[in-house]
Amino acid sequence: MCIIMAKYSFKCADIGMTCGFETKASTKEELMPLIANHAKTAHNMNEIPADVLQKVNAAIKKSFF
Ligand SMILES: [Zn+2]
Repeated sequence: MCIIMAKYSFKCADIGMTCGFETKASTKEELMPLIANHAKTAHNMNEIPADVLQKVNAAIKKSFF
């Protein structure tokens, strides 16, 4: 099975935050903890609320290289 090179990226600004945070990962599973960790340290969200999580999911961009 060949590996599909996909890139998932997320920008905090895309969910309406005045924040320059941007992160990338090769899978969504890798990306989510990075976002969760940022939300915790930068936005004092120990847990991402469901409505924010929905916005996050909608803001994640997938691209192929
Ligand atoms: Zn942020």
